[in-house]
Order: sequence, then C-alpha cells, then structure tokens
Amino acid sequence: MTKTSLTRTLQDVEAVPAAVTPPDHPTETSFIKKPKLASGKSRKRDIPEGLWTKCPKCATMLYDKELDASLKVCAKCYHHFAIGSRERINALVETCSFEEMDAGMTSVDVLKFTGVATYTSKLEAYRKNTGLKDAVITGIGTIGTQRAALGVMDFSFLGGSMGSVVGEKLTRLIEAGTDRGLPVVIISTSGGARMYEGMFSLMQMAKTSAALAYHARNKLPYISVLTHPTTAGVMASYASLGDLIIAEPGAMIGFAGPRVIKDTTQAELPAGFQTAEFLLDHGLIDAIVPRADLKSALCGYLECMMAGTRRQQAA
Ligand SMILES: [Zn+2]
Repeated sequence: MTKTSLTRTLQDVEAVPAAVTPPDHPTETSFIKKPKLASGKSRKRDIPEGLWTKCPKCATMLYDKELDASLKVCAKCYHHFAIGSRERINALVETCSFEEMDAGMTSVDVLKFTGVATYTSKLEAYRKNTGLKDAVITGIGTIGTQRAALGVMDFSFLGGSMGSVVGEKLTRLIEAGTDRGLPVVIISTSGGARMYEGMFSLMQMAKTSAALAYHARNKLPYISVLTHPTTAGVMASYASLGDLIIAEPGAMIGFAGPRVIKDTTQAELPAGFQTAEFLLDHGLIDAIVPRADLKSALCGYLECMMAGTRRQQAA
C-alpha cells in the first residue's frame, strides 16, 4: 500500500460514524484503533511522569525544576511543600561553610520493637530510600555573616520522629553552640517522639531542653523555626523554647491533634486552629516568614540578637 492510499483510507475511516455492529473487515478495525492509540501516546509524551507536581492547594501543575528553584513553594498560591533537610541547608548557609556534625550516628533497636515490621527493618528501609541516617542533620555553618549552630529536621525519615539519635545530635549541636559562643537555629518538622524507642524518645525532650537552658545561661540566642507539621514531643520541648519562634505560612503546629483536643474538651474548635497564622494571632509564635525570605530574615535576627549578646557579655 502506498502512502497516499493509506492516508486516503485513514481519512475515509475517520469520516465513517462509529459502528454499532462489529465491522465485517477486521483490517478496518485495526485502522480505526491505531490513530487513537497514537494520539494518546503523544499526549502522554507532553507531560512525562515525574516531571510535574500538582499543587494540593490550588491544583496548578508545577514543573519540578521550577518547583525546586523556588524552594518547593507553589508559584501561584505560595503553598509550602515539604522540603528535604539537605536542600534547606543549601538554601540557608553560605557555599562550603557547613561543617556537619555526627553524620554517621545511627539508632539501634534497644527495645527489639516489632509491629507490622521490625524497627531495624524500618530504619534500613528509610536509610536506603532517603539517603539519610536519621531525621535530623546538624552542623556549624555561616548564615549571611554569622556563624551559627544549625539543626534541620527531615520529615521524610520516619515522619521526622524524635528518637535517641535526633535528641543526641541536637543536644551535641546546642552544646557545641554553647562552647563556641554561637547562636543556635533549629528548623523543626516532626510527628513527635519515636514510638519505636519508647521511653528513650521521651527522655530526649528533657535532654535537649536542659542543653538549651545552659545555652541561654550564656546569653546566647536560640531561634526555633517551625515548619509543617511540628507537633507532639518536639513541639513540647525544644521547638517551643526559642528566644524567637518563627513559622512558615500555613504550617500545622500543635501538641495533640485537633480530634483528640475536641474529644477531650468537648468543645468546637475555632477556624484555622493549630495553623501558624492562628498561633501568631494568639501570641505563641513571633513571626511568620515565607521560605523565600527565611535566609534574609535569619541574617537580620541573628545579627540583632548577637549584638545584644555581645553587649550583655561585655557588661
Ligand atoms: Zn498552589
């Protein structure tokens, strides 16, 4: 069959209304189906999987490269997506200035915890999938011109849960800040204490809080940054102890979930309950800073607060 005759056949076939009864010639059926399949494939090629992300708030399709460039913030409605700890550190500190601490520290399964899967197998799976050792990265870096002890949590590792490694790494970070006379900045995102480590997780609340108390005794500032979501044991310890507490827009922040509170108090919860905006109105946090402005805001806050520290130390 020549090209011209094929084209003509296709045009003829397309002009024929859809057959109600099965057609007599099977070859014609294949001609009817082929163009449809081809058009479907080309449409898929226009939107390849894994390159676009749909905004859960405004449903806009966002090109992944642009989403990465905007620090995972929707260009249309400013919805803040979850961002990895490494990406966040890269966005905050000056190039090559970050010295990571305790990078190899890993949790052990003290309680021999077994639920649907063992804790050990969960840890292995999360390490493999995220490339992280645990739910926080800590180190000393330069933000603007100020050296600071920086801890950044990562929700992708077991829901940012605080186990003995998260608690120990943050405590060592705060102690390093105290020893070197540096401010501490901790960016939190967490579902709370890690149930797989039982009491050992809860002990981290007291340990990190005590380390912050020693840090504060040296008149050194601590800035807590709350991102979506920051809840339970983390919110009940170091996340709410900042000299300055700032949050990202729309972040869910609280101790217990809204359903538990509603059942306990037997009262209707107000609109926007446990959002960063609600907490700012009620005085629990000091400021809401969009992700794009976080670095410049931290530079300003740290400069101002460290000037106060130097004045107090000189007096
Ligand atoms: Zn959006």
